[in-house]
Amino acid sequence: MSMSLGSLAFRLSLVGVLAGIAGGCAHSRAPDASLAEQIIQEPHGGQHALQLLKEGNERFLAGQAESPATDPETIRIAAVDGQKPFVSVLTCADSRVPVERVFDRGFGEIFVIRVAGNVTAQHETGSVEFSLAALKAPLLVVMGHTKCGAVKAAIAGQNVTPNIDSFLASIQPAVQKVRAAQPNLSPEQFEEAVTQENVRQTLRELYATSPLIREKVSSGAVEVALAEIDISTGKVTWLDNVPKP
Ligand SMILES: [Zn+2]
Repeated sequence: MSMSLGSLAFRLSLVGVLAGIAGGCAHSRAPDASLAEQIIQEPHGGQHALQLLKEGNERFLAGQAESPATDPETIRIAAVDGQKPFVSVLTCADSRVPVERVFDRGFGEIFVIRVAGNVTAQHETGSVEFSLAALKAPLLVVMGHTKCGAVKAAIAGQNVTPNIDSFLASIQPAVQKVRAAQPNLSPEQFEEAVTQENVRQTLRELYATSPLIREKVSSGAVEVALAEIDISTGKVTWLDNVPKP
């Protein structure tokens, strides 16, 4: 494996061209369609992107969702010019975590990778790499959620099927770490702590297995935020102790 990050980025940009992602039509754009493109070019685009997610969640919680980037023109332009998402979100497949709705965003704005237990393995990590390198998303979010069935099953040490067990195994390091560090938690506190530790564990795994992600974050090209969503309300809480590469 001697491919440099530069040549990898070049290959990813080729992928983008082949996929019609980097098209550059010079027609006027719907306001929503140009927002992400603008954020990608800002010096601190990741912080702007995070602010948009926070504001969107507040609108959602207040019952004042504006459903941006859902007008027919924005949808059409995103299809013609290619997607320019301003954030990549790795979260759980749980049906109670509708990402665009809880952040009140629309088409072409959020690159979402969903997998039970918001863990990561080669396919998920590759998807994150694609979103950061080829699509140039300036913000990466890993988001867990309350009452996660995968977290509960991992805590219970259940064996289900080999395929299900594979993602439960990815949650086990968080279970073991919390069990060792905080042995006196109530079952509810323990589940909450594992949920949050699992989000950090996923980020550490992304760093450990992806030189590209490490480089993007270390250089400041990509900001990282960790979150937990309460599925009983849709409220997103932003976590501290974000691991560094
Ligand atoms: Zn879940």
